[in-house]
Amino acid sequence: MIASDLRSGVERLGDMIAEAKTIVPFTGAGISTECGIPDFRSPGGIWTRYRPIQFDEFVASQEARDESWRRRFAMEEVFAAAKPGRGHRALASLYRAGKIPALITQNIDNLHQASGFATEHVIELHGNTTYARCIGCGKAYQLDWVKRRFDEEGAAPNCTVCDEPVKTATISFGQMMPDDEMQRATELSQHCDLFIAIGSSLVVWPAAGFPMMAKNCGARLVIINREPTDQDDIADLVIRHDIGEALGPFVGN
Ligand SMILES: [Zn+2]
Repeated sequence: MIASDLRSGVERLGDMIAEAKTIVPFTGAGISTECGIPDFRSPGGIWTRYRPIQFDEFVASQEARDESWRRRFAMEEVFAAAKPGRGHRALASLYRAGKIPALITQNIDNLHQASGFATEHVIELHGNTTYARCIGCGKAYQLDWVKRRFDEEGAAPNCTVCDEPVKTATISFGQMMPDDEMQRATELSQHCDLFIAIGSSLVVWPAAGFPMMAKNCGARLVIINREPTDQDDIADLVIRHDIGEALGPFVGN
C-alpha cells in the first residue's frame, strides 16, 4: 500500500524496522543522487548522451578501451568528491545495530563502504568503479596506475602479468552478472523478514527479481522511490518520496 504522506510512511517504516529481525536493503541509483552521483540510466544520464560501450567491443577494440577509460577519468572528480548521503548513513546505523547482515546494490560508487559497511557485506551486482581488474587473470589495479600508464603511453594499458585488457571492476552491458554475487543476493533475499528496495526502478533483470523473491519467501516488502516502480503492487509499504527525507529519521538510531 502507498503511504498517504511522508510522515505516515516514515512512521510505518519505523514500526516495521522495529519488528524485523533481519533486514536486507536493495539499493539503486536513487540513494546516491543527493551525493552528486548521476543516475547513468535516467534521461539526461551520461549513457543517454554517450552510447554505452558493450563488453564485446571493449575486449575487441583498443579504441573502445581508450574511450571507456577517458570517460571514467572524466568522471573522477564526481566520484572522488561524493560522500555518503542520509540513505547510506541510515542503513549503516541499522547495520551497526545488527539488523542488517549485508546489503545488495546496483550502484558502483563505493558509498555504502564509505558509510561504514565492511566490503564483504556489500554485494555489488554491477561491480565497483573505484578500482580496476584485468579481464584475463583478475589482478586488481588502482585507478592511479591506469591513469599514469594511459598518460605515458596514450592508450589504455594491459595487464602486466597476462597482457589482457584492464577494465574498471564494473559489469558492462553485455557482460555476465557475477555468479557469487547473484548467489549471495539470492540467499539474503530468501532469509530476511524485511526487504527494503531503495532508489531503484526495479526494472533491470535479474536484479529486479530479488524483491519478489523475498516477498515469496515470507518477508515484508518496502519500496522507497520517487517514481512508481513495477513492483509497487506487491509491496506492503510504498514510500514515494525523496530517499534522504524518508531515511533521514533513521540515521544514528
Ligand atoms: Zn591479467
